[in-house]
Amino acid sequence: LFVTFEGGDGSGKSTQAALLERWLVDGGHTVMRTREPGGTEFGVEVREIVLHSRGFITPRAEALLYAADRAQHIATKVRPALHRGEIVIQDRYIDSSVAYQGSGRVLGADDIRSLSEWATENLVPDLTVLIDLDEKAARARLDSDHKRFDRLEAEENDFHQRVRQAFLDIAAADPERFVVVDGTLSPDEIATQVQARLEPLLRR
Ligand code: C5P
Repeated sequence: LFVTFEGGDGSGKSTQAALLERWLVDGGHTVMRTREPGGTEFGVEVREIVLHSRGFITPRAEALLYAADRAQHIATKVRPALHRGEIVIQDRYIDSSVAYQGSGRVLGADDIRSLSEWATENLVPDLTVLIDLDEKAARARLDSDHKRFDRLEAEENDFHQRVRQAFLDIAAADPERFVVVDGTLSPDEIATQVQARLEPLLRR
């Protein structure tokens, strides 16, 4: 079972990924929680490069780096875990590239999606949780966490609006795969909604 979490910076998806892992482990499941970019040793280096090269890296170069990270991660870490029968919980996946590089950097959704489909040999999540939060609320949350302060500052004004809308459009086009949750709810309320949506998949 492959579960991904998506959402803008500061949406709370990493918190929710951790809460879901705890709930599943308590229920006796074997879980691998991982993330992109940075889920492998190679990916950690790619993550450093992309996050530190903002402002001068070209959008296409950025898209290819995320795709390279993803190819390595899926082939060496995620597929093996799925083959062992583990539940994989992943913080960000293809939808992030479609939203950030496709819409945010305006490279176009179709090219970005096919690049990632090629990179992963078409590995599709069983469930994707989109945590939707507007930019203002996300900024307020990040401002209170000084380590992550610069994240939303780096981009021009409508970048995050485009990314948010792209996530919502992707989810609306694929309601079977997605559960969209309101990021202003409490962490416990969000976790409960995620669990309710996952429960039938666990019994399959
Ligand atoms: O979610 P996480 O904190 O790991 O994301 C790291 C940064 O990389 C974030 O600022 C996110 O917006 C960005 N990112 C991106 N394109 C992706 C994935 C992440 O711009 N495909």
